[in-house]
Amino acid sequence: MRHPRALVSSIASQRIEILFGYAMQNFEDRKLSSAYVAHLERLSMHHRIRLPKRINDSICRKCHSVLVPGKTLSIRVIGKKRAFAYKCLNCGSAKLVSFEIATNKEK
Ligand SMILES: [Zn+2]
Repeated sequence: MRHPRALVSSIASQRIEILFGYAMQNFEDRKLSSAYVAHLERLSMHHRIRLPKRINDSICRKCHSVLVPGKTLSIRVIGKKRAFAYKCLNCGSAKLVSFEIATNKEK
């Protein structure tokens, strides 16, 4: 029996959230957390689910480690590009993560 795609996707995204939570809890155990991250990446690819930005920005696509500022991640701010320069401290790979500058429009 085939299950409806929407149901399967919602279960898969719940599992991705749970796996990300486990990976964050166990970020000090590099082997375990990278296994969780590799699994959630595989899930998202298999079910063609886009990872939420929150999760996508907190994992290293190269070594599958969880990026925790000060522990496994160094952050620099590049104001001109409105982006953070993320550098994974496990494998040294770098990426740019854009951010929005809050403006006080509601006055
Ligand atoms: Zn890395």
